[in-house]
Amino acid sequence: MSTSIGTSLVARDVVRVPVAFVNAYLVGPLGGPWVLVDTGLPTTSTWVRRAAEARYGTTPPEAIVLTHGHFDHAGNAAVLADHWGVPILAHEAELPFLTGRSDYPPQDPTPGGAIAFLSRFFPTAGYAFGGRVRALPADGAVPGLPDWRWVHTPGHTPGHVSLFREADRTLLAGDAVATADLDSWIGVATNAREVSRSPVPFVSDWDATDASVRRLADLRPTTLAAGHGRAIDRDAADRLVAFAARSHRPERGRYVPEPAVFGDEVGVVDVPPPAPDRTPTLVAGGTAGAVILSHLLNRARR
Ligand SMILES: [Zn+2]
Ligand SMILES: [Zn+2]
Repeated sequence: MSTSIGTSLVARDVVRVPVAFVNAYLVGPLGGPWVLVDTGLPTTSTWVRRAAEARYGTTPPEAIVLTHGHFDHAGNAAVLADHWGVPILAHEAELPFLTGRSDYPPQDPTPGGAIAFLSRFFPTAGYAFGGRVRALPADGAVPGLPDWRWVHTPGHTPGHVSLFREADRTLLAGDAVATADLDSWIGVATNAREVSRSPVPFVSDWDATDASVRRLADLRPTTLAAGHGRAIDRDAADRLVAFAARSHRPERGRYVPEPAVFGDEVGVVDVPPPAPDRTPTLVAGGTAGAVILSHLLNRARR
């Protein structure tokens, strides 16, 4: 397997590691200390570890920070935490999904669009990281990264966080927004830079999601790097402010009329009933989904 998977420096001491259609980030100066932000799809830990070793050698990170626990962000967290012997940190409200207490709400493929279509094949199970995982410090500090703070940006998931470095206004937004249009097949295929809404089929609270986008726009980032897409560093603040000025709630979908309900420390308490699914056949969908996924994986593996 190639050791080069197209890493890129998106801001000072911030390296993007693309893992198929999702990004992990190596954050911290050469020589450390450093932190791994998100970990990529399950079974791709070797890619992420090699990218880390290319930059930091055998110096382990101070911690693994998860913007949230979806499979494409937390997929390698346990393997890498064990490899390096470091903790996994996430927002307190995300812990039920990382400690085996709750699965995420079911994904909703019904709003339409590329990522919604593909979501049929994605898992929504939580993880059970046991003693490896703990809550981020309540004061907004990010252990190992004194220049950074975490910002609670719920909506995509209840404990979603973004990371912000005030000094140069670099923002790691996780899935609070995307920087490629995941609703468009062309957007998915080309990965063109565009401020775009949070991955739709996994958003379980749209009011909270819109509010989180406004919170991020208020930070006026100069670099916007998200979980999906390439970083935006040209007019990022103006583009995000313009994006935040309107709601990105889909026209239809399971979580559109009302959100999923979450409880402290327990995860999902209640979900709305499934919405009508207008996709004609799952057979056709399965074929198309498999083709697209294999394309994305091969592209990243090149
Ligand atoms: Zn997500
Ligand atoms: Zn994601």
